[in-house]
Amino acid sequence: MQTKSAVVYEYGQPFQVETLELDEPREREVLVRVSAAGICHSDEHVRLGEMRARLPLACGHEGAGIVERVGPGVTRCKPGDHIVFSFIPACGQCRYCLMGFSNLCVLQSRVGGGPRLDGTYRMRNSAGQGVGQFCLISTFSEWTVAPEESIVVIDADVPLEKAALVGCGVSTAFGAVAYRARVEPGSTAVVMGCGGIGINVVQCLALAGAAQIIAVDVVEAKLEAARRFGATQTLNARTDDVAKIVRGLTDGQGADYAFEVSAVQSAVSQAFAAIRKGGTLVLIGLAPADMRSLPVSPQELVLLQKAVIGTLYGSVQAANDIPKLLALYKAGKLKLDELVTNTYHLDQINEGYADLVAGKNLRGVIVL
Ligand code: ZN
Ligand code: ZN
Repeated sequence: MQTKSAVVYEYGQPFQVETLELDEPREREVLVRVSAAGICHSDEHVRLGEMRARLPLACGHEGAGIVERVGPGVTRCKPGDHIVFSFIPACGQCRYCLMGFSNLCVLQSRVGGGPRLDGTYRMRNSAGQGVGQFCLISTFSEWTVAPEESIVVIDADVPLEKAALVGCGVSTAFGAVAYRARVEPGSTAVVMGCGGIGINVVQCLALAGAAQIIAVDVVEAKLEAARRFGATQTLNARTDDVAKIVRGLTDGQGADYAFEVSAVQSAVSQAFAAIRKGGTLVLIGLAPADMRSLPVSPQELVLLQKAVIGTLYGSVQAANDIPKLLALYKAGKLKLDELVTNTYHLDQINEGYADLVAGKNLRGVIVL
């Protein structure tokens, strides 16, 4: 069959929307009609070469859809199931999966593209060249074939356009707060960067019962949105001395936690300065591959016993946490509708990414 997909051929070039040949699902693979795909920053990192991947690559790693057909041996889903893609596959059998770190599953090393788990391609362009699939899923496609390890079945009554968001951004933020930092009720937290992930860190801090949520950005509209999502204070990093103001708001101590989403050096250093003795800075934003050092004081790490930790996919267990987050949405406790500030057709993908870079959306979604 054929599918229209967004492909990166060369770093720095726009996404190319083209028709690809798509093979039938093989052993333990699933054919999905993709309904919606979130415009997340990681694909932009790939397009610009800031995150190395094997090209050509059909992009998109946040999405939801409906299972059309399954290959032999599939047990995790059946035709007609509504699903969210997990951008890291979970085999369920490796050491990491068994320890409860399925976000670090051994299959994670395969998300950068290239052939499928069995060494072959399902997508081919008109020249007959094999096209890799980002995170093995390629959600910027009308149709895709994914390993069943990447599939999480959800309740059919959740709109897929909203469900797509928990495939990456919302899960990452939720897990960073709940599992990586383990924020206790009454805590104080700073959030550096209030885009697609940061705004969800803000709302998940509110869910976790944080007493003070200090949101920082340079775009006034994002700070306004952060207040709607639960921020108790907002600061503009361009004009405000973040660390000084945070200390002022916390009896001179500094915040219990800081979450850094922008991966900008100056923001990392401000976040580190804003946490108290014994505080924790959680790095969520993906820094470019050529950024080799962290602008934090090793002496302060020791003398003030600060911690800097990273998190991938918010350390969530997608199969458990994606349905959990959608249950929170259905209970009216997690905002998803309010996150989608614009929708695009697949042909408008480059416009969607230009809007992301310009800071125009909380989350743009491609509706397929
Ligand atoms: Zn993402
Ligand atoms: Zn595994």
